[in-house]
Amino acid sequence: MRLFKTVAGLDTYLASVKENQTVGLVPTMGALHEGHISLIRRAMSEVDQVVVSIFVNPLQFSPEEDLAQYPRQLETDAQLCENLGVAAIFAPNPKEMGINNTSEATTQVIPPPKMIASLCGPFRPGHFQGVATIVTKLLNIVRPDVAYFGQKDAQQLAIIRQLVKDLNLPVVIKGCPIVREPSGLAYSSRNQYLTDTEKQEAIALYQGLQSAKQAFLAGERETQVLIAHVKEKLTPYSAISVQYIECVHPQTLQPLDIIAEAGLLAIAAYVGSTRLIDNMLLQVRKPIIAIDGPAGAGKSTVTRQVAKALNLTYLDTGAMYRGMAWLVLESGIPIEDESAIAELVSQGTLEFIPPQDHEPPQILINGENVTEAIRTPQVTALVSPISAYAAVRQKLVAYQQELGKLGGIVAEGRDIGTNVFPDADVKIFLTASVQERARRRLIDFHSQGEDKINLQQLERDIEQRDYQDSHRTLAPLRKASDAIELNTDGLTVEEVIQKIINICESSVIYGPIS
Ligand code: AMP
Repeated sequence: MRLFKTVAGLDTYLASVKENQTVGLVPTMGALHEGHISLIRRAMSEVDQVVVSIFVNPLQFSPEEDLAQYPRQLETDAQLCENLGVAAIFAPNPKEMGINNTSEATTQVIPPPKMIASLCGPFRPGHFQGVATIVTKLLNIVRPDVAYFGQKDAQQLAIIRQLVKDLNLPVVIKGCPIVREPSGLAYSSRNQYLTDTEKQEAIALYQGLQSAKQAFLAGERETQVLIAHVKEKLTPYSAISVQYIECVHPQTLQPLDIIAEAGLLAIAAYVGSTRLIDNMLLQVRKPIIAIDGPAGAGKSTVTRQVAKALNLTYLDTGAMYRGMAWLVLESGIPIEDESAIAELVSQGTLEFIPPQDHEPPQILINGENVTEAIRTPQVTALVSPISAYAAVRQKLVAYQQELGKLGGIVAEGRDIGTNVFPDADVKIFLTASVQERARRRLIDFHSQGEDKINLQQLERDIEQRDYQDSHRTLAPLRKASDAIELNTDGLTVEEVIQKIINICESSVIYGPIS
């Protein structure tokens, strides 16, 4: 592992590794704990090179806050990163980050006023401006493909997502779930300040949020009632002084009276003299089941049938890619002209109408029903090259995520559980050995009257395809860290479906389907 303190050093290093390698950035202020480690692990499983930045950003502390006291332990952090397999740490000092001691203002990035009018914004004037400025600088210095942030700092995450969108920064932002101690207390570098008694009392923050969640799951949608549930758990503790308890929209951060789709219930409180934050996402969403896995493991057959058995919608992503291929074919744009295709696709509208009664799903492109038209051999020939284009993938991933907001879907694809629905309720990685997949394909060929196929050749083809799929820069095949692997060797299709249904039904988060 390399440790760089200068932009020049890091830049030179990255130039040497970047070719054909994806880079992930995990920005931190150091004093690394399990929360940070989960971000690093997630990055390790999704990109080729992970850079962790460690920078206690003076711009995000106000004069009366704990900048000088904030824990700094670079050596321990570096050892931890090395053990985890991080490629490089970037640990600049304030001067290297362009922050000078004179109070001369540099260029700053100002988040939308509405996003800093709620939660921590009013209590920490200038904080999110400081965060937005430094994160923009870090993204420009590292130029990662993906950057990882914790849901623990939910307001920060929403502001960064907005910033990346508004400033057209070429990076994918991924939010990672809150990691908690066994007691429920969210890991935080500031937990080091707590005395034993305070640490014990601090658990009430989580208990309050949990109590609200229980009420929410029982059907309560009024935010004032949910907030009262949190308060009730905190009142017995004298060391806890609440700064705010609010429920806002998770993306816009606007205050909510009623949770219609999703709410972010967030709290900030002093426990003794330590300020802690915590939050919980409350989603009115039916489950999402994501099925990934290598080609030839039977994903599409199985996924359709699981959807049917569980009375959920099968999200036919394949038909959507066919729709895009049809659009390109109709336009007459040559397949090599990727930029013209990007423009065409980004302006087009796609509509997926889920299957109803015995009707198959319908696909509408720019208002025209193309359900039949996307099945021609000409379209089939174009699907693979078209889906390899980043703009096409981006368009469809955004659309699929939009459809996923209300849940109730089963979807399959190479990166469905890692990229499209990273917060799916159940993730299955459906796989089978190369030999088994080759054998199944041979049976298919025989049933089509093709007898001259060689089993060894099929095995080599499958191995090659696996290698290609897991090394793609765009949407590589990777098993999500929270996916359940299901090896289908020796199982019939019916047995596989039954196993998946059992997994879904035994999953704690998988609530009633209807
Ligand atoms: P910090 O070092 O506190 O600035 O945090 C660096 C990153 O780690 C931020 O994206 C945080 O949201 C994330 N993080 C901090 N604590 C946790 C936690 N308990 N669980 C998940 N992510 C966390």
